Amino acid sequence: MPWLTDENRHWQEKARTVAEKVIRPLAADYDRKQEYPWKIRDAIAEAGLFKVWIPKTYGGAGEGPQSVMNLCLVVEQLSRACGGVGVLFAVNALGSFPLLVGGTEEQKQKYLPKIASGEKLCAFCLSEKTAGSDAQALKVRGVQDGDGWRIHGEKKWTTNGGAANLYTVFAVTDPTAKGKRISAFLVETGDEGFSIGKVEDKMGIRCVPVVETRFEGVLLGTDRLLGGRPGYGFKHAMETLDLARPGVASQAMGLAQGALELATIYTSKRSQFGAPVNSFQMVQQILADMAMRTEAARQLIYAAAHAIDTGSPLVTKFSAMSKCFATDTAMQVTTDAVQLFGGYGYMKDYPIEKYMRDAKITQIYEGTNQVQRLVIARNLIRESANFSFLSEFIPTENQHVYEG
Ligand SMILES: Cc1cc2nc3c(=O)[nH]c(=O)nc-3n(C[C@H](O)[C@H](O)[C@H](O)COP(=O)(O)OP(=O)(O)OC[C@H]3O[C@@H](n4cnc5c(N)ncnc54)[C@H](O)[C@@H]3O)c2cc1C
Repeated sequence: MPWLTDENRHWQEKARTVAEKVIRPLAADYDRKQEYPWKIRDAIAEAGLFKVWIPKTYGGAGEGPQSVMNLCLVVEQLSRACGGVGVLFAVNALGSFPLLVGGTEEQKQKYLPKIASGEKLCAFCLSEKTAGSDAQALKVRGVQDGDGWRIHGEKKWTTNGGAANLYTVFAVTDPTAKGKRISAFLVETGDEGFSIGKVEDKMGIRCVPVVETRFEGVLLGTDRLLGGRPGYGFKHAMETLDLARPGVASQAMGLAQGALELATIYTSKRSQFGAPVNSFQMVQQILADMAMRTEAARQLIYAAAHAIDTGSPLVTKFSAMSKCFATDTAMQVTTDAVQLFGGYGYMKDYPIEKYMRDAKITQIYEGTNQVQRLVIARNLIRESANFSFLSEFIPTENQHVYEG
């Protein structure tokens, strides 16, 4: 990409090296065992990759308030070798963005340097059994207790749960309020009453744990209330998702890129009817479509990351568009890649089927793609107010025929 800066390329190459030297050779084994890859975590930390989205003032490498472009470039490279590792890395950004957008100076000083070094791993606890797309329907409660707060309830689908030692937990603190009902809390492993419940057995991203997390009257001081004030949790959760969605998009696009590369090589080596299968035009068309879609996803992600890093007002829409387009692309491209491998593609002996399994979840988490389309449409409708000057070119209620 000619328009990437030297710094962007520096992080991209570092991630590529870790992906090819450490991750790719181990990916199938961790997928089979469904085990957290501490060796890979160590290699990522050693390469300094946990620093990329954290500002320099807090021990990171980011120039601005965050550096989502570098985050995306790293996630893309890691996911090209293993989609599970892509999210294992990106979920730390998801879990720590609430601190960046809403933490007090003290909270930032306390946690961010340890996250940047890889010492602290993070998780983001928003979803519950009965609160998925409807994230306002939370049942986990935060109840004031003396100077502090007690957290009661259970969260579902906590990615990185058990491996992480810092959990950003969203809880209802004022059930009767119309707005400002929800607050965010910082829970650490070892806090009394906090435990890990069911560990999920998953279709894909199997090297990263996804678990239920339990909060049985966990007592926290006010220093663990994000931003030091109640009622801002939902706002911080939505701001966090705006920043994090291009990361999921990059996980998906990295998977698409990795699958495309494997399919391109395989179809040049595999012969049928006395010729390499890539000499057949129907195969070439599939490869060309895979490449176009993957590249279009990449450009949209970079546009979204650039919008975030430069403080554009279009962040929410771009972020949702990049997530939705790249993850639909990944599902299509990885499925096509399996098709191009023929019967071998369906077998666990080869890595390509894992790309397809890892891709599916990207259409579901951090807001399903149906929800992304709602977000995009809502923003479009809002923006349509800027185009009122076009009113004279559309039919009015009483005049459905264009008479221009
Ligand atoms: C492996 C995995 C990891 C996850 N990691 C995390 C995590 O780390 N932290 C976290 O907080 N959450 C996490 N999640 C939760 C994830 O974000 C939710 O699963 C997702 O938001 C969807 O919620 P749901 O599963 O309850 O589906 P539901 O909300 O019940 O949706 C069911 C279906 O209805 C559709 N639907 C719902 N509402 C609408 C609507 N208004 N319009 C159109 N269609 C709609 C959905 O698109 C979906 O197809 C994870 C989930 C999984 C499976």
